[in-house]
Amino acid sequence: MQTLFRLQGGKFTAYQPIHLYRKFTAEKIFSGRAMMPEGSVLIVRADGTVEAIVDRDEAGEGGQYFEGILSPGLVNCHCHLELSHMKGIIPEGAGMVDFLLSVVQQRNISEQIILESIEKAEAEMLANGIVAVGDICNTDFTIRQKSKKNLYYYNFIEVSGYAPSVAGSRFEKARGLYDKFVSIGSDASIVPHATYSLSGDLLKKINQFQQNNVLTIHNQESDIEDEWIREKKGDLTRLYHQLSIATDFFQPQGISSLHYFLNPISEFRPLILVHNLFSTDADVQYANQLFSQHNSQLYYCLCPNANMYINKKLPDVDLFINNQCKIVLGTDSLSSNKQLSIHEEIKTLQNAYPHIRLEQFLQWATINGAEALGISDTFGSFEKGKKPGIVLWDEDVLNVKCLQV
Ligand SMILES: [Zn+2]
Repeated sequence: MQTLFRLQGGKFTAYQPIHLYRKFTAEKIFSGRAMMPEGSVLIVRADGTVEAIVDRDEAGEGGQYFEGILSPGLVNCHCHLELSHMKGIIPEGAGMVDFLLSVVQQRNISEQIILESIEKAEAEMLANGIVAVGDICNTDFTIRQKSKKNLYYYNFIEVSGYAPSVAGSRFEKARGLYDKFVSIGSDASIVPHATYSLSGDLLKKINQFQQNNVLTIHNQESDIEDEWIREKKGDLTRLYHQLSIATDFFQPQGISSLHYFLNPISEFRPLILVHNLFSTDADVQYANQLFSQHNSQLYYCLCPNANMYINKKLPDVDLFINNQCKIVLGTDSLSSNKQLSIHEEIKTLQNAYPHIRLEQFLQWATINGAEALGISDTFGSFEKGKKPGIVLWDEDVLNVKCLQV
């Protein structure tokens, strides 16, 4: 329910024509960093660029009042838009290996269905208040939709290849895909899939390429990942066997998957670790210390609904909070989620962790996400000159609505 509020005077009528501005106020306004004092008014230009957040008596005449909470547009730091046609195909609770095998087997679907599903999934994200996405790409299927620039995408061109002998060819293929995304004016970087699908040679090539770009990797999504890296055993042997991937070159490392991945990194750049479902206190402390020593940014992306879908387990959110981690949120793909909604991810975490304040969740979904993708000059907060979109949350955080993207 929205009503107009009217007050006389104020600096936004004294010397500026009123029609230049749109004014929004609500029960609460979350700036991207904090809840603003009661009675604050968000003032944006006609094109959505933020002018200021001011006190109501400074706001001048006119404006819209909303019941609920206004926040900047939401940032989805981990998605695979190209897998949108797989909604509802893989049974819940299948576990990591069967999930991965299903994804590999389901990639051969008609292009028309893939493209239609991508378009529909993007519309769903927009309706759910998402304005920016970190999107994993193994193909160019999403290019057509992304060229419409309906929302912002950071394209993570994913590369995998376990045998050191394929490092060169796999990297070149990723390089070709990278060039395609860059040619439509989209931001992109080449990133590794996961430690268990990556050779040292391939990681070296990735690290030597575009060293300032953001890196991301699926990290400790399942306990079988650590089991493999530490001891070279467990259910991942079934994946390698079924996909005929030779593993003779790999020696058990006796350390966790995250330690193993971070050990050879010499060029530090912003990194988004995705899932972290089985990360331990020791893992997180080691990673945080390493990145802080190298003055580089490290983000932990949580995808709780996908974790429930595949592994029936939620990430240990308190572990990341207690270690002062920068947390961001992701939906993962429709192959392991019923919807693409950051709001639904927050609802799941709120139910499991009722002691975490709403402001904290909102910060992960807005400014932290924008910083992780390197786009905080435009997105993530209501600060002058940014154009972050405006989202309305109802009072109980049960629904979101996009006011302006
Ligand atoms: Zn993923």
